[in-house]
Amino acid sequence: MFLAEIIGVGDELLYGETTDTNTSEIAVSLQPYAVEIHRTLRVADNLETLAQEVRQAWGKARLVVLSGGLGPTPDDITREAIAAALGEELLLDQEVLEWLEKLFEARGWKMPEVNRKQAMKIPSARWIANPRGTAPGWWVHQKDKDLICLPGPPAEWRPMWAEVLPKLGLPQKPYRQLTFKTFGLGESRIVELLGGLFRRNGQAQVGTYAKMDGVAVVVRGEPGQVEALAAQIRPLLGEAVWGQDGDTLPALALKLLERQKATLATLESMTGGMLGALLTGVSGASQHYLGGLVLYSPAAKSQLPIPLEVAAQHGVVSPAFAEAMAAAARDMLGASYALSTTGVAGPQELEGQPVGTLFVGLASPEGVKSRHFRLPGASREMLRQRAAHAALAFLVGELR
Ligand code: AMP
Ligand code: MG
Repeated sequence: MFLAEIIGVGDELLYGETTDTNTSEIAVSLQPYAVEIHRTLRVADNLETLAQEVRQAWGKARLVVLSGGLGPTPDDITREAIAAALGEELLLDQEVLEWLEKLFEARGWKMPEVNRKQAMKIPSARWIANPRGTAPGWWVHQKDKDLICLPGPPAEWRPMWAEVLPKLGLPQKPYRQLTFKTFGLGESRIVELLGGLFRRNGQAQVGTYAKMDGVAVVVRGEPGQVEALAAQIRPLLGEAVWGQDGDTLPALALKLLERQKATLATLESMTGGMLGALLTGVSGASQHYLGGLVLYSPAAKSQLPIPLEVAAQHGVVSPAFAEAMAAAARDMLGASYALSTTGVAGPQELEGQPVGTLFVGLASPEGVKSRHFRLPGASREMLRQRAAHAALAFLVGELR
C-alpha cells in the first residue's frame, strides 16, 4: 500500500477564516494514482505541533504534501518545523537569496530582511521554483519517500504541484471520472434517488457536490465499473440532468441557441444583471445573446409594455408577471427567445412569497411559459446566483 498524507498549515484554517481547499484539491489530484489517504490534517502555525505531526506523517506515509506557512513573517514556521522533524539544519541558499533580491528590485523595492528565510532550506531538500510568488517550495526525497512543501495561495502552488506531481513516479491505476450536472434536485433527494448505489461500490464511487449551477453527481474509479455505475445512475436522475463533465449552463444555452440559429434577450429583476453576466462570460456570446434589461423598482417595471392589471392582480412576483416580462423583452429586442427573472432574494419576504421564491418566464416563438423555483441559499448573493443559473437551466431544458 502506498500511503499519502496531506497537511494544511495555518491558524486561519483552524479558526474557519479560510476553508482548507488546498488539501481537498491535492487529494483530488492524487485520485488517478494507486495512493491511499487515511487522514489529512489541518495544523496551526505552531512549531512544536507541526514538527510532531510531520515526524509522524513522515514515519508512516510514502508521500507527505504540505501547503502553507512559507511566508516571510514570524508566524510562518513550516520550514522550521520540517527541519526539526527531519533533524536537519536550515541553511541559506545564496543563489535563491539573490533571485529574491532581484525579484524585489524589479518591483522597485529593497528586499525586507524578513524575506531572507524564504531562501533557506534543509540540505536534503531540492527547491521547487515558484513562478508566481516569493516562496519557493521544497521537495525532499529520501529512500522511497517524498515530502513536498508548497506555499498556501492556490495561484502559487498549483503550477508548482503540476510540475512535481508527474515526476513523483506514483503508482498509477486505471481511472475514470464522469460527472452528471443536475439542477432542481437537492443533495439529499439525490441520495434518496440513488439508494444503494450511493454506498462505496467496489472499485467505483459516487459523490455529490452542491454548486451554484446545481448538484454535480460524480462517479469515479475503475473505468469499467464507472461506466456500469453511471449507466444505472443516469435514468434515476432523469430530467434533472442538464449537462455532463465540463459543461456550463451559459455555454450550453448558447450552443443550443446556435443549433436553432436563434437569439435570446433577458429581462431581469431578482438577478439584477447576473443572468446577462453569465451569458456574456462566454466568448462569442453576442452571436446569440442580444442583451437585456434590468428593471428593479416597481416604478421602472411600470414602464414596461405590460398591462397594469397583471401586476395589480397577480403581483410582480408571480408566474403571470414573469411571463409578461419575458414577452415584453422578446418584443422589445426582437429576439426569438426571452428569459425573465422575478423573485425574492431576501432577507424579507415579498408579496407574501418566501425568500428563495423565483419565477422564470420564457417567451418563445411557440408562446410564453414560466417555471416556479424554490431556491435554497443562505444569502442574497447565493440566491441571486442560483436564480440566474435556474433561469438558464429552464432555458436549456426547453431548447433540448
Ligand atoms: P501562507 O503560505 O501560509 O502564508 O498562506 C498564504 C495564503 O494562502 C493564506 O492567507 C490563504 O489565503 C491561502 N491558503 C493557505 N493555506 C490554504 C489552504 N489550505 N486552503 C486554501 N487556501 C489557503
Ligand atoms: Mg499562513
